[in-house]
Amino acid sequence: MRMRDFIDDLGLKEGERYRGDCPQCRGKNTFTATNTLGDIQYNCFKLGCTIRGIYVTDMTAAEIYQRMKDQQTQRAYTNIKKEKETMEIPEYVVTPKANHTKYQRFIRRWGIAIADTLYDVKDERVVFPIKHKGRIIDAIGRAVGINHPKWYRYTGEADYYTVGNGKTLLIVEDVLSAIIATQELPYITAMAILGTSLSPKHMQKIGEYNRIIIALDPDAIGKTVEYRREIELWTGNKTTAMNLLDDIKYKMDEDIDKLKELCNATSSSD
Ligand SMILES: [Zn+2]
Repeated sequence: MRMRDFIDDLGLKEGERYRGDCPQCRGKNTFTATNTLGDIQYNCFKLGCTIRGIYVTDMTAAEIYQRMKDQQTQRAYTNIKKEKETMEIPEYVVTPKANHTKYQRFIRRWGIAIADTLYDVKDERVVFPIKHKGRIIDAIGRAVGINHPKWYRYTGEADYYTVGNGKTLLIVEDVLSAIIATQELPYITAMAILGTSLSPKHMQKIGEYNRIIIALDPDAIGKTVEYRREIELWTGNKTTAMNLLDDIKYKMDEDIDKLKELCNATSSSD
């Protein structure tokens, strides 16, 4: 099949993006095509696949303008509809007290210093609220008793968890690693993906940072490589993948030193 026919069949409108299987190498979900003002840029990010290019459609300026206007109207509308709902905190999720021993032991064990954690007395979970525009929209709970699963999401509204205000973004495996990383490196922002794959929502957020470092747990090296490739292609930002000796939460000296070095190197070259 000719690439031109394939792209025509997608029927991409201005501003739309397609992601799916590659027509050339059959890579699963590795092919993207984006229509920017009538120019359709496409590429495949599977290693070894050479498919990439720009295909110019014959939209007139008037058509492009009309479509942009339609989309702006539509976007304004969906923004109102899609505002994330504030989470209703259940009665059994409370401000932690000194006699919540399982909570206190967990906080001490990991040296957690952030202030806004809660405690789920029913399921025995340390609860990390997730805010969006100043409101709590979701929370993630870490079991400290016999309950499973280990991690529990309270609403599922959040797309990711971030902590810190730095300009360098460190992508880590989970919420605990994110918190511990920012305690060790207060000048960064750390992000936990809260899932197994990167979505456009992640990319939008990741795109706000100039420097990106990925440091997933050592058993996730395949995922690290994949994320790095996807992030560089989606955002165009330089992304560094770091091999850890152990999960960040264990704070191995070598890992933390290497991470500091990487963050310093990336921030000083600005
Ligand atoms: Zn391909």
